[in-house]
Amino acid sequence: MPKFGFTPYRDLVRGGAPTEDDSSAAARVRTLRGGSPNPRGSYVLYWMQMFLRGAENAALDEAVRRANELGLPLVVYQGLNPNYPEANDRTHTFILECARDVSRDLAARGITYRFHLRRSRSESAQSIVSELARAAASVVVDDFPAFILPRMTQSLVRRTEESGVPIHAVDANGLVPLADIPDRQYAAYTIRPRLHARIPEYLLPLPSPEPANRTPAVLPIPENRFENLVAREDSDLATLVAECDIDHSVLPSLLCQGGRREGRTRLESFIDASLPAYAKYGNDPGRAVTSGLSAYLHFGCLSTGEIVRDVLRSSADDEASDAFLEQVVIRRELAFNFCRYTPVSRHANLEALPDWARKTLSEHASDERSPRYSLEQLEAARTHDEIWNAAQRELVATGTFHGYLRMLWGKNVIRWTETYEEAQSFMVRMHHRYALDGRSPNTYASILWCFGLHDRAFREMPVLGKLRPLNSSSTRRKFNLDPYFRRVAAAAGARNMPVLAAENLPGNRRAT
Ligand SMILES: Cc1cc2nc3c(=O)[nH]c(=O)nc-3n(C[C@H](O)[C@H](O)[C@H](O)COP(=O)(O)OP(=O)(O)OC[C@H]3O[C@@H](n4cnc5c(N)ncnc54)[C@H](O)[C@@H]3O)c2cc1C
Repeated sequence: MPKFGFTPYRDLVRGGAPTEDDSSAAARVRTLRGGSPNPRGSYVLYWMQMFLRGAENAALDEAVRRANELGLPLVVYQGLNPNYPEANDRTHTFILECARDVSRDLAARGITYRFHLRRSRSESAQSIVSELARAAASVVVDDFPAFILPRMTQSLVRRTEESGVPIHAVDANGLVPLADIPDRQYAAYTIRPRLHARIPEYLLPLPSPEPANRTPAVLPIPENRFENLVAREDSDLATLVAECDIDHSVLPSLLCQGGRREGRTRLESFIDASLPAYAKYGNDPGRAVTSGLSAYLHFGCLSTGEIVRDVLRSSADDEASDAFLEQVVIRRELAFNFCRYTPVSRHANLEALPDWARKTLSEHASDERSPRYSLEQLEAARTHDEIWNAAQRELVATGTFHGYLRMLWGKNVIRWTETYEEAQSFMVRMHHRYALDGRSPNTYASILWCFGLHDRAFREMPVLGKLRPLNSSSTRRKFNLDPYFRRVAAAAGARNMPVLAAENLPGNRRAT
């Protein structure tokens, strides 16, 4: 049995009843502004930003607890703005689909939910949530450590200064609260034992409180500013997306519909059909046995806790469960740890790399790149490398791409672009623009992983220096990629993207 396997938790999960001790909930809460509740407030507000789920949500639970303590109703608010980086139809559609599930799940629990779609960029971004917060007794927000979220939260704290309303941020990101590992970890091997020491405390769910006061809250915003999503069909959501001032050229994913229902369905079918083969074939792009859950985790449709418990309750063997939980708990929480303890301005910045990686990059900065491609050639998947092109096309067509190929994709972007900085910012832009899971701590930490973050030094070579090497010829030798190429061709075909043999691609010239 591996020293840090998940097997010992199986009995706990299979036999365990929810714990009554809610002290573990406190570790998830950060006070952004303390003090007593706003005496003029007539409800508790939960601003749902990243944990888009109406169940298994520690932030929602905390908001219900606070509302019940004060004897007030709870109002859950979610907004969608057109001005986040690379806002487009793909991301907007996914978020609206998530919001529709939230609206249905909260309606079933008798919780007030209001959703505002800001169509135009000229409308003030924060006015609605700020007004709602000023009229609340107490506010709960999601404590997500990356992208524009920390800035949005700070802005809310500033804008509501005069009201003095208390604001608490709740960390429902992963299995173990980020605060339990109080400093930045060097690599998986340093965070793994620390996480395992904490997992038993957080494995079983706390009982989810239900709101005691269900009287409709009186809001300071007219009801016609909100969209009722409960009964909306897919075509209605498409109409809403079309009305927004965003990039309409990145089309919704045909593979990933957003929301908790689809997330649960995927989790269940992954556990039944693919988890048993995960340890053996998880890296093989030809086999497609990974979970496809990253977008659902990113937008919070599922909690890590429910995934871990379902996996441990399943009949998959220990090797398969361990291999999967290593990714979904250890690797993912390492990425969140990186973002929590690194200033946001450095999440997409090579300055965040360890010293050995920065040193090797500075020694190889002027190495000749051959071939070298322009960013336009890369974005259009016009390189000589059939595997790289397929990975890029998969990303553009579907909003996700295979994990093993992401590593290869990243290493080759480093090899083929003029500078390391150009490579890094291209990778981030591709993820912001096309990937449905692409604004997460996993995005920033994994892209920096290609440059040595959380990794070690290897034998030195041109351009990559001492970074871990990965190349297409060894990938081709390792796996039968034909089924993968066929899948990408089908996905790209469904999106009317040209699917040509690499050597015939128009404009496929190596830059000099
Ligand atoms: C250059 C590069 C960019 C990446 N960008 C992203 C990104 O934008 N968003 C993202 O979620 N992941 C990213 N990853 C990590 C990983 O490739 C994806 O999480 C995975 O491919 C998603 O597919 P899946 O859900 O089928 O994964 P599975 O293999 O089924 O894994 C289950 C879950 O574990 C987590 N996970 C898996 N691998 C990793 C990893 N290496 N690091 C951290 N968490 C992991 C994810 O949440 C994933 O959904 C990137 C990796 C690289 C090398």
